[in-house]
Amino acid sequence: MSEEKEKPTIPEVDFKTFLEETPPNHTVKCIDFDIQRPKHTVSSVNENIEPLLYCPHEKCKGNRLFFTRTQYGTHLSDKELNMNFIKYTCRNCGVTEKVFAYLHEFDGGYNSIVAKVGEIPKFGKRVPEKVNKLIKSERDLFFKGMANENQGMGIGAFSYYRRVLDSQKDRIFDKIIQAVEVLPVDKEIIEELKAAKAETQFTKAVDKIKAALPQGLLISGHNPLKLLYSAVSEGLHNHTDEECLQYAQSIRLVLFEFAERLDSVLKANRDLSGAVKMLAGLKPKAKA
Ligand SMILES: [Zn+2]
Repeated sequence: MSEEKEKPTIPEVDFKTFLEETPPNHTVKCIDFDIQRPKHTVSSVNENIEPLLYCPHEKCKGNRLFFTRTQYGTHLSDKELNMNFIKYTCRNCGVTEKVFAYLHEFDGGYNSIVAKVGEIPKFGKRVPEKVNKLIKSERDLFFKGMANENQGMGIGAFSYYRRVLDSQKDRIFDKIIQAVEVLPVDKEIIEELKAAKAETQFTKAVDKIKAALPQGLLISGHNPLKLLYSAVSEGLHNHTDEECLQYAQSIRLVLFEFAERLDSVLKANRDLSGAVKMLAGLKPKAKA
């Protein structure tokens, strides 16, 4: 029997994604890290790469582009491990700073193996208010899922997110039904959504839906319920912690975007109803 173990696969990402999405204590293969590396000299990060990060400054309070201010690193050969710090500043307010620490080594080709050591302020996404409204009473569990995800604990994050989807299934489906009802759709999808809601689990409920969701709720042309279904139904048993982390990240990202779509459909409808009400209330002026 072979003693050789299969090597775990390292996710391949670009440097911008590494800064924005990779939690501390995780390693990736960066596909554009050494883009400006002249042969046999010290490597440096391409300064045109600007991560989109959360800025809490009162001028910003949202995701903004950050630019490179300073880089410190060990000046080692291509064959050794390099230790680096890089500092970014918010392009919008010019005040908020973010520092990353990472290790990297070249893989013999043009890619780099990069490990994130840490970052200050600490890694982590904020829960948008629209998502909070959607998951309501399960905010704490969702927050724990994000804390697990931030620490790179994939199985934990995945389990928390799945639990939130299962326990908030009724609420999520009610919101979808509300949104679908204001869009021009066949009655069929509304009936299907109502019947699916009666299922006990999120995956079973989604599995029941055969009709397509209206265009306004799709994410990059895909039905978000089916995307969530694919990620959640993968299960925990056949996957590594790293793979579960990727599924957990996908669940969170799709849920964030879906909450946004639902909210904008309902808001557009409220605005329209308001306008109709106002215009309908106008009395025709008497002719002179
Ligand atoms: Zn800012």
